[in-house]
Amino acid sequence: MSKRVREVAIIGGGIAGPVTALALHKAGIRATVYEGYPSTADGLGGTIALAPNGMAALEIVGAADAVRAVAEPAYRQAMAVRGKRIAMPALTGVEPYQVIRRSDLYRILHDRATAEGITIEHGRRLVSAREEGDRVTAVFADGSTVTADVLVGADGVQSTVRRLIDPEAPGPRYTGMLAFEGLSAFQVPEEPGTMTFAFGKRGYYIYWPALGGGTTFGVNVPHPRPLTIKEARAVPLRSWRETLLEVYGEDAPGGELLRHLPPEKLQVNGALYIMPPVPHWYRGRLVLVGDAVHAPSNSSGQGASLAIESSIELARCLRDISDVSEAFATYERNRRGRVERIAARAAKINHTKAPGPVARALMPVIMSIFLKVVMKPEKTIGVDQRYRIDWPATV
Ligand SMILES: Cc1cc2nc3c(=O)[nH]c(=O)nc-3n(C[C@H](O)[C@H](O)[C@H](O)COP(=O)(O)OP(=O)(O)OC[C@H]3O[C@@H](n4cnc5c(N)ncnc54)[C@H](O)[C@@H]3O)c2cc1C
Repeated sequence: MSKRVREVAIIGGGIAGPVTALALHKAGIRATVYEGYPSTADGLGGTIALAPNGMAALEIVGAADAVRAVAEPAYRQAMAVRGKRIAMPALTGVEPYQVIRRSDLYRILHDRATAEGITIEHGRRLVSAREEGDRVTAVFADGSTVTADVLVGADGVQSTVRRLIDPEAPGPRYTGMLAFEGLSAFQVPEEPGTMTFAFGKRGYYIYWPALGGGTTFGVNVPHPRPLTIKEARAVPLRSWRETLLEVYGEDAPGGELLRHLPPEKLQVNGALYIMPPVPHWYRGRLVLVGDAVHAPSNSSGQGASLAIESSIELARCLRDISDVSEAFATYERNRRGRVERIAARAAKINHTKAPGPVARALMPVIMSIFLKVVMKPEKTIGVDQRYRIDWPATV
């Protein structure tokens, strides 16, 4: 008979890593998280919107209330198309999207993990792994090693564990866009808690009134190659603002938001990637979770929420199925269809967000697709957002 998994090493201390550790802990399985960066504040900044399904999954690991305490709920959503505003119907009976600073979400998850006695070690960058019998040894860049029953790759879209599982695995696909976020001094005349999806002349952007005054907005801008955060941040913010003005300057309120934007309030969030379907989610004692195995376009509004769900489902499978490969196969079976369906729909919308000449010509078509999605929320996003993991139920 297979031995039950007792000890798990998790690579990646972003979102999926700490949530997997918390869920495993709840399942009675010891987990330690190894994060490559020396501290949690490294990497991407900006805000992240957590969908109702993601919040429900966070509830299972006891982190939802801490998120609600600092997040801004997006109660209402509207579309703005060349000066015309259309209120978007919302799903009934689900909580609003919770918009939270990425750094706050990381801190909450880390605090929660630490409170449960879970160790998160920083400055531990995985470079390889070897399997010996029913154990797996992770090897880090400094030459140190750690041995556990299972190794979880929660190491994001550029995952090392994915390549260790399958050297032929596809890599992430650059969407051709860089993401920016800004806090403009311009005040849009919208009620707090209103998120507007705006279709301008050349591109698409999103904005909402900021709690402390002004307006927060997010935009994507085409760029021929995927700059690293370091490269993108080496470009002066004034130059980036000029680039954004070329795309959005003639739009209302896009132009105003940018003209009232102090350059230091502009943040470069880096290149946007999506993961094509990954053929092998696991091999032997190695398994993937979160963006490492399913990173939808950020137009899905689901990347983090799906990562959280998968983390919990993986822990549930390891809790209930002692044979590791059967547990991994069940986990994949329970997750693959859902995440790939959401990714495929988001990829369609994504095409419409690039402000190039093709997207410009396609804008009316795109808007009609978008309208179809948002005007019948129950039919389109109901199944995404009403999804709940039945933690107490046996897998
Ligand atoms: C600009 C932008 C906006 C977004 N907005 C939203 C949004 O509004 N809503 C939403 O749901 N999603 C959004 N997403 C997607 C969301 O950020 C991801 O889906 C989510 O972060 C996935 O979590 P993760 O833990 O799988 O990966 P990550 O958050 O990327 O974490 C991976 C971690 O692994 C670490 N790591 C990598 N390699 C190694 C290694 N070899 N050894 C050790 N550690 C390693 C990394 O340093 C990192 O900390 C957005 C993404 C971007 C880029």
